[in-house]
Amino acid sequence: MTHASNTTMTDTPPRPSPKITPLSAPYWEAAAQGRLLLQKCASCGKVRHYPRMLCDACYSNSTDWVQASGRGKVHSWTICHHAFHPSFVAELPYTLVTVDLDEGVRALGRWRGTALSIGDAVLAQFDQRSEGPELFFTAATSTP
Ligand SMILES: [Zn+2]
Repeated sequence: MTHASNTTMTDTPPRPSPKITPLSAPYWEAAAQGRLLLQKCASCGKVRHYPRMLCDACYSNSTDWVQASGRGKVHSWTICHHAFHPSFVAELPYTLVTVDLDEGVRALGRWRGTALSIGDAVLAQFDQRSEGPELFFTAATSTP
């Protein structure tokens, strides 16, 4: 059996772009400026991430946005050896890290650094790519 394809192994499709919706637009607009925004319930004050319509504590749909410090601690990580999209194959293996942000929510991003340990202090940053901003984390080595 042969696999019909008009691409070669050297053809790399472009990375997918974020699907920006009215709900997530404030997050992506801030990310394009290098700022990490989180939703905060305007009724009870609970911070949430990723963007959602309703607060899961009080079910209010009244939302504010707050800028995160970008600081957090490593919750866990995984080393990806299989790309979920062909545009990431050349970057394998890469590490995704889940971070408990100081604001009390968990975020996922690429890891750019050396060895990781649970509880390590990290800092969120954005890489401005042509297809959109990409959240990544580095070691927080100093306190500005
Ligand atoms: Zn609430």
